[in-house]
Amino acid sequence: MKKPASPQQHQQRMAKIKQKMDQKIASADKQQGIILVLTGNGKGKSSSAFGMLARSLGYGHQCSVIQFIKGAWECGEELFFAEHPKVDYHALGAGFTWETQNREADQLAANNAWAMAKERLQNPDFNLVILDEMTYMFNQELLHLDEVIATLQQRPARQNVIITGRAAPEALLEAADTVSEVKDIKHAFRQGIKAQPGIEY
Ligand code: ATP
Ligand code: MG
Repeated sequence: MKKPASPQQHQQRMAKIKQKMDQKIASADKQQGIILVLTGNGKGKSSSAFGMLARSLGYGHQCSVIQFIKGAWECGEELFFAEHPKVDYHALGAGFTWETQNREADQLAANNAWAMAKERLQNPDFNLVILDEMTYMFNQELLHLDEVIATLQQRPARQNVIITGRAAPEALLEAADTVSEVKDIKHAFRQGIKAQPGIEY
């Protein structure tokens, strides 16, 4: 077994790491908003976005949430955040395509949600815009990816945008500054456990 480091060795190692970390922090000096994509098949994409919404609100930022697929159920985040004076909240989706079974209704809902989103992406008053479950719009060909990317690139310089949803298209990942993939390792649902309020919705 490796001998534990002496207090002096530990202190020297940590001082070296601190020096490197301080250099990295000092060189990341660009002041600009980012595009953050949260994708993958695991649970935690939307809830991560709403965690950042809480963070932003902690700093008094003006925020907007557009949900492209309104769940079959109500959800805790809407009940909580829609009441907040600094949150502009719109759950505009028609529902899952296998629930609506109506392409025309899906397309209308997608157009409506995108029109709302586009307005926010052109308004510098919004510090944070969350486009929840937007990736499904591309997979179902309900929105034009090129138009969305062009709008994202022309948005106000300090605005942060978070996009969630499974199977984010490659071009969107390229346009993003930060991308995280949530990996599905286990999910209680597959053991037959009912969806939990406060955890799932
Ligand atoms: P959350 O909103 O909980 O962060 P998510 O945004 O990562 O989840 P979605 O694909 O939007 O995931 O799925 C929404 C709902 O489906 C949530 O209730 C979530 O718990 C559930 N879910 C997510 N991943 C899985 C999975 N791998 N198997 C079963 N249910 C899942
Ligand atoms: Mg989600």
